[in-house]
Amino acid sequence: MAKRDYRLPGEPCQQCGGSRFARVLARCSDMCSIDIPGRTYHGYVPDDLGIGGGDDVNFDYCLDCGRIRGNFPRPPTRIEQGIDGHPRPR
Ligand SMILES: [Zn+2]
Repeated sequence: MAKRDYRLPGEPCQQCGGSRFARVLARCSDMCSIDIPGRTYHGYVPDDLGIGGGDDVNFDYCLDCGRIRGNFPRPPTRIEQGIDGHPRPR
């Protein structure tokens, strides 16, 4: 049996089993800012964070528990690997 793909509409929340979702679609283009410990990024939405990519922040989240719909955990991101972004000044 295939592994469930929790990104698909109709699948319940992978954390609480709920079915109340809100879809966020925010066109920020190249004005996306991402901070992780020690590092910061500014530009188009990275596509390896599970929150959309390119021009848009785009994800569904559960209105019961707050879990973002998607396949997590994510593999190491380009920001974490130091490929994108810059060390955050203190
Ligand atoms: Zn939930």
